[in-house]
Amino acid sequence: MAETKDYDIVIIGAGITGTMLARELSAYKLRIALIDKENDIADGATMANSAIVHTGYDPEDGTLQARLNPEGARLYEKLCADIGCRYKTVGAYIVACGEEEERHLDVLADRAKRRGIEYKFMTGDEARENEPNLSGEVTRVLDFYTTAVIYPWEVAIACAEVAVKNGTELFLNSPCTGIDRTMGGYIVHTPNLDLKAGIVVNAAGVYGEEIAKMVSDDVHFRIRPRRGEYYVLDNDVDFVCHIIFPVPSKEKGKGVLAVPTVYGNTLIGPNSDYVDDPEDNGTSVDGLGYVRAHIGKVLKDVPLNRSIRTFAGLRPSSDAHDFVIEEQKGAEGFINASCIESPGLASSPAIAKYIIDELISKRRELVPNENAVMTRERPVVMSELTPEQRSEQIKRDPRYGNMICRCEQISEGEIVACIHSTCGARSVKGVKKRVRPGMGRCQGGFCEPRVLERLARELGADPTEIVLDEQGSNILDSVNRK
Ligand SMILES: Cc1cc2nc3c(=O)[nH]c(=O)nc-3n(C[C@H](O)[C@H](O)[C@H](O)COP(=O)(O)OP(=O)(O)OC[C@H]3O[C@@H](n4cnc5c(N)ncnc54)[C@H](O)[C@@H]3O)c2cc1C
Repeated sequence: MAETKDYDIVIIGAGITGTMLARELSAYKLRIALIDKENDIADGATMANSAIVHTGYDPEDGTLQARLNPEGARLYEKLCADIGCRYKTVGAYIVACGEEEERHLDVLADRAKRRGIEYKFMTGDEARENEPNLSGEVTRVLDFYTTAVIYPWEVAIACAEVAVKNGTELFLNSPCTGIDRTMGGYIVHTPNLDLKAGIVVNAAGVYGEEIAKMVSDDVHFRIRPRRGEYYVLDNDVDFVCHIIFPVPSKEKGKGVLAVPTVYGNTLIGPNSDYVDDPEDNGTSVDGLGYVRAHIGKVLKDVPLNRSIRTFAGLRPSSDAHDFVIEEQKGAEGFINASCIESPGLASSPAIAKYIIDELISKRRELVPNENAVMTRERPVVMSELTPEQRSEQIKRDPRYGNMICRCEQISEGEIVACIHSTCGARSVKGVKKRVRPGMGRCQGGFCEPRVLERLARELGADPTEIVLDEQGSNILDSVNRK
């Protein structure tokens, strides 16, 4: 029989929703467990999206999204500063081609005004002065100049680190396989551990409906994953400096965009296709074809020949067409944080506060933990240092002078530090997510074996035990030790 441990709150899912909530809750005297089925934090939608902190003009009036998106966006910059994460204000151009689309810009501007979101209008020609690759068909532009981009999984990992340092217990490779009701709460079953708690938060992304149904059949939302696929352009391609959006539509959401990322790459995508399998997150010929066909409407000379990678993510789309954040009917203390599709990333700081203020605090008294530290130091990033600071760092620890990733200039020191950090990397992809070796144009061709060696050495493991990503994705069958 699996061991049973007692908690006050169990959070299922360590994406941006679960980790942001865990960090906020760690400010209180609570026994918290955060579980995820994967081998790392942020391996679901939080790993594969457009990375935009939308300002909040898009959600329909009266929805929870319309309330939490602007609120979340306003909290982001300080949050990122507090937890040592990148936040880059790039601005977003919503571009209209012709009179009908121009009228829709007025609707968005009206919503933005009522929500206190800053914007300005430009003519197509004025916008083309800043963005020469805008198509000649663009006639008018709505500029949301406070829009920012982040590195989504960096934020989730940083939130988890803060929570764990404040006492939260993190269990990876721990899929929730069933939930039983007990007197005053629930038992969340995983293969190795049963977690008992009065409050359970379901932040399981595309699996939200499945988890909710483990508690009762009275689940009023249906989740259907909707895939979005992207091209990633090399970081020396000077293509756009603002996020370029077509006018959004009900059918296709925000449409195919160009997004300058925090590290200088450009994302081109996504499409929007329903899939039946919640694990079906590979790219497809048709999906990428759609992206190619539609980006040309608003941008010209798109340099897709400079693409270094493609990827796809799954939105937890639902028939609710809004976030579902509420206690499940007839299941006291079981809280769904479900159907968190875009703008879920941008809204996440406000989602966490909403769950605490509107739901958890109604169930139990929250006593502040005066020892909690809500901030996190940014780890050393050699490429962000001045030449003098770099020399100092190498003097302190020569491993920072040993470049492992040539494309992104990542040193051995940074890799070793991320393995030994709180919530440290346990896989080659885990190292890639934290410090970026393999994110450049060679996509790990040069550095991956070296990362593998460092992981094995630092974890005291045999190289054959090191995985690329999830459990079982071992890279080596055997090692020639001659
Ligand atoms: C293509 C695309 C583009 C997007 N662009 C943006 C954008 O630019 N801006 C924005 O604000 N939002 C965007 N979003 C939405 C945003 O990515 C999501 O709203 C957000 O990441 C959802 O986070 P989450 O933590 O709720 O879900 P996830 O990140 O999916 O996390 C759920 C977690 O639950 C875990 N889990 C699932 N089942 C179980 C189980 N049985 N037991 C234990 N753990 C389990 C999973 O492993 C996963 O880690 C986009 C999404 C997509 C797919």
